[in-house]
Amino acid sequence: MLDKIKSFLFQKDNHKSDNFDVFFDLVNSYLKREHPKISFDLSIDDKFLKEENLKIKKTLFIDKIVKQFIDFEYTKKTQETVKKELLWSGYGINSSPNIKKPQDFLRRKELAFFRENGVCNRCGNKMEKITDSHTFLIHNFEEGGGYNIENIAILCFDCNKILTNEDKNIFELHLKIRDDLYDFI
Ligand SMILES: [Zn+2]
Repeated sequence: MLDKIKSFLFQKDNHKSDNFDVFFDLVNSYLKREHPKISFDLSIDDKFLKEENLKIKKTLFIDKIVKQFIDFEYTKKTQETVKKELLWSGYGINSSPNIKKPQDFLRRKELAFFRENGVCNRCGNKMEKITDSHTFLIHNFEEGGGYNIENIAILCFDCNKILTNEDKNIFELHLKIRDDLYDFI
């Protein structure tokens, strides 16, 4: 048994390309599971083939993915409506466009979260808890957008950061996807 383990370890050490393949598979299944709405280009180009340092190779690969994640164009669409029975008195009045969020905004967020089953509207990330999610107004106040449920989308931590970022260094944003991918190195 010990010999088998030894030979396995030995083999892994001597086949560094295998190691990249394992990493690649982990990354690939992670992206499909965590961000299913985005189709990533995972092609390996010459730059990767020429790079012999495995760590650099993996880092370059992660950069390529994170860049695609940031660049992914989000098409803002009016969201689904919900059954009238789920709405409450005052819902209509509080839905009108206003610079200030209405008092019942948390209730609206909950409704949008359950309507979407906790799935991020931009990338498809499934969130377990409402506290992990963010809301996004499809049409903002200046565009005449109100707080009606059809105008509220649910976003994950990363997508919210990307869409609300006003900092020029978007590629230096702290993103969960980057942390997660670095865990595979
Ligand atoms: Zn997302």
